[in-house]
Amino acid sequence: MNLRLTPELTEMRETVLAFARRDLAPEQGGDAAGADRFRARWRLAGRQGLTGATVPAEYGGSGLDAESAAILMEALGEGCTDTGFAFSVAAHLFACLMPIVEFGTDDQKRRWLPGLCSGERIAAHGVTEPGAGSDSLNLSTRAERKDDHYVLDGSKCFTTNAPVADVFIVQAATRPAAGFFGLTSFIVDAATPGLRVGRPYEKTGLRGSPTADVYFENCIVPAESVLGAEGSGATVFTGSMKWERTCLFAIYLGAMRRVLNDTLAFAAEREQFGSPIGQFQAVSHRIVDMVLSLESARLLLLDAARRLAAGEDCDVPSALAKLAVSEAAVKLGLDAVQVRGSGGVLEGDVGALLRDALPARIFSGTNEIQKNNIARALGIGRRRPARR
Ligand SMILES: Cc1cc2nc3c(=O)[nH]c(=O)nc-3n(C[C@H](O)[C@H](O)[C@H](O)COP(=O)(O)OP(=O)(O)OC[C@H]3O[C@@H](n4cnc5c(N)ncnc54)[C@H](O)[C@@H]3O)c2cc1C
Repeated sequence: MNLRLTPELTEMRETVLAFARRDLAPEQGGDAAGADRFRARWRLAGRQGLTGATVPAEYGGSGLDAESAAILMEALGEGCTDTGFAFSVAAHLFACLMPIVEFGTDDQKRRWLPGLCSGERIAAHGVTEPGAGSDSLNLSTRAERKDDHYVLDGSKCFTTNAPVADVFIVQAATRPAAGFFGLTSFIVDAATPGLRVGRPYEKTGLRGSPTADVYFENCIVPAESVLGAEGSGATVFTGSMKWERTCLFAIYLGAMRRVLNDTLAFAAEREQFGSPIGQFQAVSHRIVDMVLSLESARLLLLDAARRLAAGEDCDVPSALAKLAVSEAAVKLGLDAVQVRGSGGVLEGDVGALLRDALPARIFSGTNEIQKNNIARALGIGRRRPARR
């Protein structure tokens, strides 16, 4: 399905696709050399304008709107076979830099954004805790105000980019009983005493994206570290999720396109019973279903991105896009494995989409939570339970 892209967007798409194919090959191993190589690829992505794509030019970014960014992320996801790396770049940009763009003071923007855009520095966003996943307002991490600083105590889990991060956006409870208005966001330098990062996780999917726990033990941050106002943490977090559910998920559209093209080529080439397997209706219909999943999810995502770019309310469209893209990616990943036969279950590229797609139904708010939110917007569905 052809979008009517402007010549500039078409050129940008082609450039990013070629760059990602050439320079963002997957990581081998997980040792220190791997961490250096991760950072080297990150710098290249920065030079290509990917790590700061939606940040205004005055702070070192490329100033793209959400719609253009979705096209860019789609190209990144198609060209970069390491979907984990693409996911890390997108999480950095949409969950960390965009909150600073939208809620930061001018001083905060000038201090943090240029290095984060250029690829010199990496960001991570810590919300989830062992006891607070979907129930994201029920945080145990506390931030207590004392004179001109806050003291952070608590821990985060599943923090994308934590093992390599130079700066963290951290959500903490400043008024634990106040629910939505009880959270505050902080920008915290990774070198702050009292901040400690755990060992990187071994994940089944998105292996190229480093993830770890983060601990705060009597971690003192200046009052100027507050992002937005005290009590606005949930608003900051919700804003970042809108960016994730649209633009971040576009990397999966690209990954699906790559796998679909490979599957088509395989079905045309692999012969059984004297003919290419693509001539068997069971196989060709499966591939048509893959096309249908991808193209319908893509329309929903681009609609949400267009609305975000236009400043329209996009709560429901972005939730629908997240649902459609993640479910399509799992289904398409399963179908790709099936068309390959036994080759589909070997370690390597064929099963990678399926492994990388499973977490997509969980992060940025699980698909069940998206459905709860859409149901509430439709006037049905249960309200959030009262605070304990
Ligand atoms: C690859 C990856 C990267 C991540 N990166 C980050 C990150 O950078 N920063 C960060 O803060 N977090 C991150 N997360 C964490 C993610 O946001 C949480 O895993 C997610 O919010 C779900 O929380 P949970 O895992 O604790 O599941 P739970 O909330 O415990 O949910 C378990 C199951 O119960 C269901 N459930 C829970 N409540 C309801 C309900 N009310 N109605 C219906 N069903 C319900 C869920 O849908 C799910 O199926 C990441 C997760 C993954 C997988």
